[in-house]
Formats: sequence, C-alpha cells, structure tokens
Amino acid sequence: MLKTIESEISKQAAPPALQAEFAQHDFEKLRNFCRLTYITSIAIWLLFNLIISFKGGQGFTALSLLFIGVMAALTTILGFIRNYRHFDVLNVMFVAVITLGLRLVTFGLPAETQPIWLALACASVLYNASILPLSRWAFLGVAAITCLTLNPFLMTQASVMDLRGLLILCFCAFLCSVTIYSFFKLRRVKLHNYIMSKRLAVQAYVDALTEIPNRRSFMLQAGHALLTQPRVQDHYLAMIDIDNFKKVNDQYGHDIGDEVLKRTAASIKAVMADHEYARLGGEEFAVYLSGVRRSDVEALMDSLCSRVREDLAEHPVTVSIGLARVTDTDTLNQALANADKALYESKKTGKDRFSFY
Ligand code: GH3
Ligand code: MG
Ligand code: MG
Repeated sequence: MLKTIESEISKQAAPPALQAEFAQHDFEKLRNFCRLTYITSIAIWLLFNLIISFKGGQGFTALSLLFIGVMAALTTILGFIRNYRHFDVLNVMFVAVITLGLRLVTFGLPAETQPIWLALACASVLYNASILPLSRWAFLGVAAITCLTLNPFLMTQASVMDLRGLLILCFCAFLCSVTIYSFFKLRRVKLHNYIMSKRLAVQAYVDALTEIPNRRSFMLQAGHALLTQPRVQDHYLAMIDIDNFKKVNDQYGHDIGDEVLKRTAASIKAVMADHEYARLGGEEFAVYLSGVRRSDVEALMDSLCSRVREDLAEHPVTVSIGLARVTDTDTLNQALANADKALYESKKTGKDRFSFY
C-alpha cells in the first residue's frame, strides 16, 4: 500500500502553496541546527584566524573583531527569525560575510598554499549550505557568492594551465556539482516525505465519509485536552447518536443514510466549532468541551438538537445527546462510559433531547 501511495504522490507536482508550507516546516524543524552551524562556522573561522595571526606574527586585528561582531549579530538575529524567507536572506548575508572573512584570512598564508586553502574553504562552505533549509534560489545565490569570493584562481598565483591549477579546478568542479546535486535531490526527497506524511496523517485521523475527525483523532485530542487544559471552568463530554437511524437506512437505502450522516456531521461541526468533535463510528459522534459553564453546554446542546431537527432536508432526523462532566480523576474512557449512560437516558425518555449523567 505504501508503495502505491508513494508512486501516486511522486507523479503529482506539488503546488506552490504546499511547497511554501513545507519550506516553513523544514525551517522550523532545523532552526536550532542552523544556529549550531553558524556558531561552529564562526568558531572554526576564529581558530584559523588566531593560528594564522599569531603563527604568522601579525597579531589579532580590529578587522577580525568587526567580522566576529557582524557574524555574532547575524547568529543572534537568527534566533528571532520565524519565517523561512527571512532566513534565506539572512543566510546570504552570513555567507557573504564569512566567505569574505575566509578570503582575508588566507592572505596571511604563504602565497603558494593559498589556492588549496581557498578550494577547501569553498567546498566546506558549499557543503554546509547544502544541508541548511534553504529555498532553491537562496542556495544558488549562496553557491554563486561562495564560488566568486573563494575562487582559488582570483588574486592568487594559481593558473588553470599548470598542474596544480588543473587539479584544483577538477576538485572544485567535482565538489560543486556533487553538493549542488545533493542539495536538490535531498530537497526533493524531503518534500516528498512531507507530502506523504501529511496525506497519511489525514487518512489516519479524518473520517472518510463525513470529513470530520475520527475516533483515533478524538482520543488523542480529547485525551490531551483532559490532561492539559486548565480546570478554571468545567470540562464536559457529549455523546451524540442519531435517532432511529436504522429506519432511515431501511426505508431509503444506505446512500441516503450516508447523506444523513454527512449532514449531521456538518451540523455538529458548525455548532461545536470551538470544541473537539469527532465521528466515533456508525451514527455516533462525540464532543469534548473544555473551559465551559453548565449553562453554556445546555445552550450549545439545545442549539444542536434544534439545528438537526429543523434542517429542511428531504430526510429529517433528530439526535439524542448524553453529557458527562469530566472530573479531575476521570479518564477519557470513564467519561465516555458516563456520557453513554446519559445518552441511554435521553433515548429512554423520548429521544431528540440531552441529559446529564
Ligand atoms: P436509536 O434511535 O436507538 O439510536 O436507533 P438506531 O436505529 O439509530 O440505532 P441502531 O444502532 O439500531 O442502528 C444504527 C445503524 O447505523 C445500523 C447501521 O446499519 C447503521 N450504520 C452504521 N454505520 C453506517 C454508515 O456508515 N452508513 C450508513 N448508511 N449506515 C450506517
Ligand atoms: Mg447508535
Ligand atoms: Mg441511533
């Protein structure tokens, strides 16, 4: 099954909105990793700078301090960035500063070793950029800046014509193509996985017929609300059941029964929009209401009963509701069992009404 879904998804092109959603998701997941990469890059640059400055007898200059200051400022700004597009811009700035810093540091090296160090620096910066959550254009921008600023043939003694120059050229060409290719490949795979997991989550947690959350989703969301929502006001659990639904199926057929289910789900969705609602199975639904007064609950249930009853459809139905106040010590299953008992009370006393446990 997984293979079928995978091949179906890989055939479809991801719309721009979905790609933007993925980019934002990817950035949020990797923001701390980006900061770590920046801090490590600054540390390595500083180490090289210190070694070259003191071994080369040049001392540590004010210019080095300025570079560290700017890179530290950009790393701090990264902590406040929440949008992936802003990160794209910030990263271009960071790469521009660090590649310039690296170029200045290599000036302190013996002239004959400068091209090799520049090629190594260029490969390292490109590799680092390829694992960051960047958009395509931001990555290509970074690659262009890196290849330009850290070009081993620019302002050095290297020539493409001699043996050393040719070897450096081959190394740079190979590394640049591998990193650019792996960036695009990785990005595609990550996007594909994101779309897959999103689709599977929808299939696992949304009821296919009524398109509202299903039992699995309800147990997760209501269970979470039960444990985490503050108890300043009460929590209630409602079980909703369509009255005489079997008759609808028997009289008009299963398709009409399905239509009635969809209509009832739509009414629940409209009235209970601020709460956790779901189709538990068959013609049973549940709602978890947190932070409500009893009078609010009564008004909502009244409104749901009348909305379903007064729905001007060809096949009108009514619903019965059972309500249980969820106490501090209740589990979700206990609350469901209590609401079910109250539902039985509503059925027994004439249907189309709500009762409290
Ligand atoms: P009550 O008023 O006591 O609730 O009676 P009821 O007829 O609603 O209850 P009962 O449990 O006897 O019938 C439920 C019916 O719901 C039986 C089943 O065929 C039908 N049903 C369950 N799931 C679906 C579905 O997905 N689509 C349709 N059309 N019918 C369904
Ligand atoms: Mg039932
Ligand atoms: Mg029923």
